[in-house]
Amino acid sequence: MDKMGLGDGLDNLQHRWRHLRKVLERSGPFCHPDFEPSPDNLSFVMGSCKILVIGAGGLGCELLKDLALMGFKQIHVIDMDTVELSNLNRQFLFRRRDIGQSKAEVAAKFINTRIPGCHVTPHFCKIQDFDETFYSAFHIVVCGLDSVVARRWINGLLISLLSYKDGVLDQSTVIPMVDGGTEGFKGNARVILPGITACIECTLDLFPPQVTFPLCTIANTPRLPEHCIEYVKVIQWSKENPWDVPIDGDDPQHINWIYEKSMERAAQFGIQGTTYRLVQGVVKNIIPAVASTNAVVAAACATEVFKLATGCCAALDNYMVFNDVDGMYTYTYQAERKEDCLACSQKPKALEISGPEAKLEDLITILCESPKFQMKSPGLTTIIDGKNRTLYMPTVTSIEEKTRVNLTKSLGELGLEDGSQLMVADSTSPNTLLIVLKFATPPDVDMT
Ligand SMILES: [Zn+2]
Repeated sequence: MDKMGLGDGLDNLQHRWRHLRKVLERSGPFCHPDFEPSPDNLSFVMGSCKILVIGAGGLGCELLKDLALMGFKQIHVIDMDTVELSNLNRQFLFRRRDIGQSKAEVAAKFINTRIPGCHVTPHFCKIQDFDETFYSAFHIVVCGLDSVVARRWINGLLISLLSYKDGVLDQSTVIPMVDGGTEGFKGNARVILPGITACIECTLDLFPPQVTFPLCTIANTPRLPEHCIEYVKVIQWSKENPWDVPIDGDDPQHINWIYEKSMERAAQFGIQGTTYRLVQGVVKNIIPAVASTNAVVAAACATEVFKLATGCCAALDNYMVFNDVDGMYTYTYQAERKEDCLACSQKPKALEISGPEAKLEDLITILCESPKFQMKSPGLTTIIDGKNRTLYMPTVTSIEEKTRVNLTKSLGELGLEDGSQLMVADSTSPNTLLIVLKFATPPDVDMT
């Protein structure tokens, strides 16, 4: 009778999972068209379905608990962070004794002990430490991340797993991605079928840009404590550079130094409200986390995972926003694919730039600042006369030094012309992006 082969006794099969059996062994009007009611559906959830949870923070703890209680037994979790004191109010799988330990490892151990039969495998590392072989072993990937770059990277990786035959997508290579995000009292849950529905890059303009204050305000007319902190962070630190290193938001000495200098500046301008916590928040760009928002969004994501795994209900199509700032509000809509999406469109991406007189650094600025690209620190190579040529490579110091001189050269001087192709590598994607230069002003045509 132990069909799962996982030690579930008769009692468990009949009682523990009876609510699931009701939706998995009966048909209904909302089922996916391919759904076939059968006890096999539960066997799949409990026996073979492999889920990857990315992030073991506020959303990740909720997701692990939800998925484990819904019957999933083969769960992997990746997180590169360790438990901090400030996590304990909402990341409920952690206790004071866990401070300093890997979030993924502590969370996995907690779930495995608390929910018999569930097997969570932790990975204390970055998502970039694994390659396609690792990711292609999962049925569904669910993300509880606070980093847009990490989301974009995993999105790019799942898209790189797709295979096309004569331009037609091979459906068996699609690994669905369920993505949750929260910010204070707002959140969203979405279902991405790579190559089929809108991906992260298709909707990149939905992510708000990092909050920045105009430099003139920071320098001349500060009105808020944030302006004073930002002044110390941006201007005073680089001037005085107390430890001769970049700011480390996790170093209490650094935060303390910024706190004291910010207090001095705030006093000069008669500004109240500078606190150590605020300094931490501004320096690390921390958005306040609300436990209830995490719980709602994670529950929505876990439900989507269950729907995708079993087909017992059609999945979310495809973007749900949640807001409980004032009352409660949710809205679901179909985010659309972008025809020339950087990640999933399979088309060469055009980059428009003024003309051959534009400098390489102008081109890099476009890659970083335009809503379409939003890159972090792109490296560029091209092929000129059949030869590979590195134009700029910021990630390797020796190559950076050698190629730095190109930044102030014009595209014309570098041998680039309208229609030239560039290979661009950036931390926002595991794949190299091919872009085609498009000059706004075509070269003067000799009319004689
Ligand atoms: Zn896309």
